[in-house]
Amino acid sequence: MHSIFFSVIISNDYDEIKSWSIIITKKNNGRFMKFSKHIVTILIIVCPFIYNSCDGGLNIFSKSDDVQLGLDINTQILNDPQQFPIYRTDLSVKAYINSRIFQHILASPLIESKDIYNYQIEIIDDDSVMNAFALPGGYIYVYTGLLEYLNSEAALAGIVGHEIAHAELRHATQRMTAQYGVSVLLNLILGENPSQIAEIASNLFVGFAFLANSRSDESESDMESFNYLKDTRYYPGGVKFFFEHLKADNLVSQNPGKIETFLSTHPNPLERISEINNLLQQANIEVRDFNSTGSGIYRDEYSVNIKNKLR
Ligand SMILES: [Zn+2]
Repeated sequence: MHSIFFSVIISNDYDEIKSWSIIITKKNNGRFMKFSKHIVTILIIVCPFIYNSCDGGLNIFSKSDDVQLGLDINTQILNDPQQFPIYRTDLSVKAYINSRIFQHILASPLIESKDIYNYQIEIIDDDSVMNAFALPGGYIYVYTGLLEYLNSEAALAGIVGHEIAHAELRHATQRMTAQYGVSVLLNLILGENPSQIAEIASNLFVGFAFLANSRSDESESDMESFNYLKDTRYYPGGVKFFFEHLKADNLVSQNPGKIETFLSTHPNPLERISEINNLLQQANIEVRDFNSTGSGIYRDEYSVNIKNKLR
């Protein structure tokens, strides 16, 4: 028997995070039981320090839970071609994005879980959706509606980097910890329902509620995309190009149907442009916008190998 330290954030609002911490022991059969009520009380008092010392929030799930969750949800997506039709018209598009952009970014030493996660990228054939999303454990999905709108490999690399960051930083299971932490733990502690995690995983799929990223998750993933791209051939500010493009097309304020989905899962585009510009300035990298050309942008390559093939 070995003891494991668990901490749980309970919050509906990232501005007002309360945290609990509980020490429980993990039995060899994988079920959990309460170790000490007194220790729980003590830890509730000291927990703000524990929370502050943690990078990027707390997560009661393990990385292998992320892998399992992603696998389960990915299977459901592949079994639902009505809602998620996989793009198969020209297989060279996916092959190009995978080898040229996705694997290139994954080579960054900053991406630590690549040996644990099932990193893979897939294209959903739906021109009416300008979006991309990541499942726990490294499944990245990009819609054709987004690919047709972007105008450079740097812009796509920025978004792919951003989605990799959601998986790498484990935002989905962090949010699950925040939403379900207490009930999960109580059930685990009481040992009454060890399959609770699996139940929650299947509930997650309904309505894709887990895709509604928080403001802080978005900023964190933008910043990580910037950091990953610094290790690549691409301009590191690529993640902001999509937002600049929307702004130039007057699509941010009008918020029409096509980008509603993206904006509902990726909030605050204008603030995010200025955040990335700040990062570029701090790193002494020239601030360029979505229409710029030159090194690190790869506009022609994008047209020839991706955009023109979708049409
Ligand atoms: Zn995001």
